[in-house]
Amino acid sequence: MLTLQEQLQNAARLVRKAQRIVVLTGAGISTESGIPDFRSPGSIWLRNPPVSYPDFLNKPEARRQYWETRRSLSAQVKAARPNAAHRALVELERHNLLLGIITQNFDGLHHDAGHDSARVVELHGNSREAVCVLCGTRSPMEELQRRVDAGETDPRCTICSGYMKSATVLFGQHIPADVLVRAKELAETCDLFMVVGSSLQVLPAANLPRLALKNGVPLIIVNLAPTPLDDYADVVIREKAGLVLPRLVEML
Ligand code: NAD
Ligand code: ZN
Repeated sequence: MLTLQEQLQNAARLVRKAQRIVVLTGAGISTESGIPDFRSPGSIWLRNPPVSYPDFLNKPEARRQYWETRRSLSAQVKAARPNAAHRALVELERHNLLLGIITQNFDGLHHDAGHDSARVVELHGNSREAVCVLCGTRSPMEELQRRVDAGETDPRCTICSGYMKSATVLFGQHIPADVLVRAKELAETCDLFMVVGSSLQVLPAANLPRLALKNGVPLIIVNLAPTPLDDYADVVIREKAGLVLPRLVEML
């Protein structure tokens, strides 16, 4: 068993050799900012699985459930600020080592941390915006949440009456093709791939590190729980991202 310091040294050695790092982040990078993830023990999502896109479109009951669970999530996302892990990734960008961040998160915290926004690919959208599922019209989520808080249970688009939802990708909903193409390009052109705070159980995100592995690119995983790719990774650190990433960046 390696000590944390030894694992960090191994990771730092890989980072020092790299020039085009791609980082895939998941809900685990934002737990230290106060937004719970889906798959850690005790998560409300495990007891109460998130509404799928087909259900959202077809079942009024599913839309009611969607808006009920969104209320606490919206408040958590609104209150959240980037933590030490988000800030450490900005440091990587300042060192000119970061090709891009692919995030499964919809909380906008990578943007808030100060990245060049062209380098951040939000696979699952952004929950600060609302969108009409029919005509695609967007509006600030805060406005829509106010309508829901005021008693609307099934908010509709003011232009076409389509159902409104947050501009995030639900289970069973396709990721926009251009977003997925950008993510794959990053995974295929990087020279070091890092996973931070993802259980690697949600497709297609979980396939992105596999694209890098196919090219013989080293893989670092920083995640509290084991992931299906741990056996393929060069370094696996099962510690909090907010502890690991700043120490790693300090070692460069
Ligand atoms: P996940 O919930 O499946 O896995 C999160 C992983 O992070 C877990 O394995 C956990 O052990 C680990 N973790 C938790 N806290 C950590 C910490 N401080 N440091 C290191 N690791 C930590 O998350 P996922 O893989 O991103 O998939 C969940 C889906 O839910 C994604 O599609 C995402 O869109 C969505 N989601 C997003 C947010 C957000 O935007 N912040 C929050 C919840 C869920
Ligand atoms: Zn509309």
